[in-house]
Amino acid sequence: MNRTLKQILPTSRNLLNSRRVLVGSSAVRTAGRVNVARQQHRMFTQSVIRPISFKGMFGGKKSDTEDNKLVLEQDNLFHVLSKSPLPEMRDRAAIINKYGVCPVCDTHHGEHEHKKNPVYDCPDCGYPTHCSEEHYHQGKQAHQEICSILREINEDDHDLRSGRPMREFEFPTAQGFDEAVNMANWDSLFYTRTFPSMDSDRSMRHVSKLLTYPLTIASVLHQSSPHKYGEQVTSEGMRSIAALRTILYPHNQVSNDAQTQLRTDTINVYLVGARAEATLPSHIWLQLAYLFPATPFHIHFIGPDALSPNQEPHTKSVNERLSFTYDNAMYHDYHEKIEKFDPYTDIFFMFSPGIGHAEARESWKTSIEKTLETKCPIFITGYDEADMKNDIEAVEQDYQGEFDWVLKPSVNEFRSLKRDVNLMDLRQSIFANYGIWGIRGKRYEVVHDPENND
Ligand SMILES: [Zn+2]
Ligand SMILES: [Zn+2]
Repeated sequence: MNRTLKQILPTSRNLLNSRRVLVGSSAVRTAGRVNVARQQHRMFTQSVIRPISFKGMFGGKKSDTEDNKLVLEQDNLFHVLSKSPLPEMRDRAAIINKYGVCPVCDTHHGEHEHKKNPVYDCPDCGYPTHCSEEHYHQGKQAHQEICSILREINEDDHDLRSGRPMREFEFPTAQGFDEAVNMANWDSLFYTRTFPSMDSDRSMRHVSKLLTYPLTIASVLHQSSPHKYGEQVTSEGMRSIAALRTILYPHNQVSNDAQTQLRTDTINVYLVGARAEATLPSHIWLQLAYLFPATPFHIHFIGPDALSPNQEPHTKSVNERLSFTYDNAMYHDYHEKIEKFDPYTDIFFMFSPGIGHAEARESWKTSIEKTLETKCPIFITGYDEADMKNDIEAVEQDYQGEFDWVLKPSVNEFRSLKRDVNLMDLRQSIFANYGIWGIRGKRYEVVHDPENND
């Protein structure tokens, strides 16, 4: 079940090509490299709705507590963005001022009439919500629905940058072989894995936003998964998951001292069309490895946004049980570098791929066909019901008869509890990995049919 990359690093020529060719796994995400307006559109919509990077959240060196200067006290987290003491938050207001939409102008003016940008700051949520005080009062009732949501985001974002010691980010380390973890939901996971300081909703929101990626994966693989056979998991799904669990849970081999030496085959997790998840620090991904103490994981971040433009594809190891490969090739090109795929050790994830988007649908095709060919399970998330439905409809139409359901569409227990808001339209907000579903390439088995004997 071992596999090696035929070629880990593509030649520089391939790299150039892969940057230029903007079709493939995540065309919708990369469109606009040559067009400034479209690039900005991408930066301020896609990247806000589907975060493109977590860099910056861990930007400052925070090794010593004295390095942390407390900027904001806990009773001083609400600030009108444009007047925030934190430059990053003032920048956010400036982006909304420039690219946002006034909902009253948007509703009452025609397509070609001039719509003014939001420059009036709502005193309750601190966001620039309307073009003028007049439109603010006119649209106040509709704004009430999201005002408290925006206020919460405002305070959460100031808290993250307040300079207080972020105790909730001090995650537990390796777990013992006999440690029983319950992955029914965030609460039971935090409790059974003894996460410290997870005692407020705000801490849960901060932490879940980062851990949603590794733990959505873990929640599929883990034996205490919230996805139950006969409910969300189909019989085909159980076959796929059971195969992976024979590797992840080598029960018959476990005995006392031998435990620490025990190493199973490596599980390969292919993240197709990776973006924000490729910028998470390694200690976030270690939380996946810790949940399966016997198993090494190799995580493949594949897609044009898996690397920043000045980086070369590379592979690195965090420790003997966790390694990463980053490659900005289109998935279907990367696919050719892998010698073989094995349903016992290989699994695919696509985090909010947007397969159903008109502009992306066609360009996803080759990559999805390749993943279906492997007969390994493929899990796909969506950021809300409409996003999931859109992707599912496209897959059902485009790959009819080529796949089996593995996991019926379900709300993901390990979704981000923190909302991301679209700065171009504050009325839109999402939860990363809100829902999850799974499919697998159909296996054509030879079935003896007595009525059709030749
Ligand atoms: Zn207006
Ligand atoms: Zn408001």
